[in-house]
Parts: sequence; C-alpha cells; structure tokens
Amino acid sequence: MRKEFAVIGLGRFGGSICKELVDQGVEVMAIDISEEKVGNFANIASHAVVADTTDEQVLRELGLRNFDHVIVAIGDDIQSSILTTLMLKEIGVGYITVKAQNDYHEKVLRKIGADQVVHPERDMGRRIAHKILSNNVLDY
Ligand code: ATP
Repeated sequence: MRKEFAVIGLGRFGGSICKELVDQGVEVMAIDISEEKVGNFANIASHAVVADTTDEQVLRELGLRNFDHVIVAIGDDIQSSILTTLMLKEIGVGYITVKAQNDYHEKVLRKIGADQVVHPERDMGRRIAHKILSNNVLDY
C-alpha cells in the first residue's frame, strides 16, 4: 500500500519538501493557512488545502489521522507549530516530522511526541561549514 504524506506550512522549507516528495512520485496533501501559498501548490500536490491546522476539527475533517507521515513546517509561529503537532499526535498520526526554530521549541516538540525534529537552517549551516573546511583541506 502506498504511503500517504501531508505537508503543513508551504514556506521555502515546507514547499521544497512538498515539491521533492512529488518529484519522487509520492502523493502529498499540501496545507497552509494562506490562500496564496496554497494556490502555488494547486498544480503540484495531489490535494492543496487552505486550513488553519491549530483547529482540531479541521485536522479531523481533512482525515489526517489516516496519514502515515505528516511534516509540520510552520516555523515562526511557534505556538501554532506546537498546537498542530500536539493535535496530530492526539488524533493518532503515525509519524510526525517538525521544523524547530530553536532549542526550546525542540524540547517542547519532543515532550509532546514529535517523532523527528529538524533545524534546517542550523543543520545546513553546519554542513556548509564542513564542506568549506574539507574544500580548503584539499586546496592546500
Ligand atoms: P520558510 O522559512 O520555510 O520560508 P516562512 O518564513 O515563509 O517559512 P513560516 O512562518 O516559517 O514562514 O511558516 C511557514 C508556513 O506556515 C507559512 O506559509 C504560513 O502561512 C504557514 N502557517 C502558519 N501558521 C499556520 C497554521 N496555523 N495553519 C496552517 N499553516 C500555517
């Protein structure tokens, strides 16, 4: 059976995850509170939905409890990120990946049961620093 994915928050990070999953042949539901952001994904995602995911009823109506993996890519609005994650957990989503803004945000996300917490800017900064160093080692 094919896995079902949903991405909540279609900023640069969530949007890029959504596009890559689709490119890899996976079905993705794209969700954002902004009509404009959702409009940009109407022809990319299997379903593109305007919704405020801090509303538990909305999560139920979208049928998110049946999804195998939900990615929460709401960054700046930490309260919305936490509330969304908590309710996804409560309705029984199998696996939840969440983008954290800082270490405190990560701590709370882990406490409420996020399965995977990522810090894209921090991790990419580290990776690039290592790449710069390894290139320099080869250069000298
Ligand atoms: P990025 O750094 O990935 O580009 P961004 O700075 O564009 O992200 P963020 O504040 O990190 O924006 O939020 C990512 C997306 O999450 C935005 O498109 C925003 O509209 C969406 N979002 C914020 N709150 C909610 C919510 N309650 N329900 C659904 N989507 C939301």
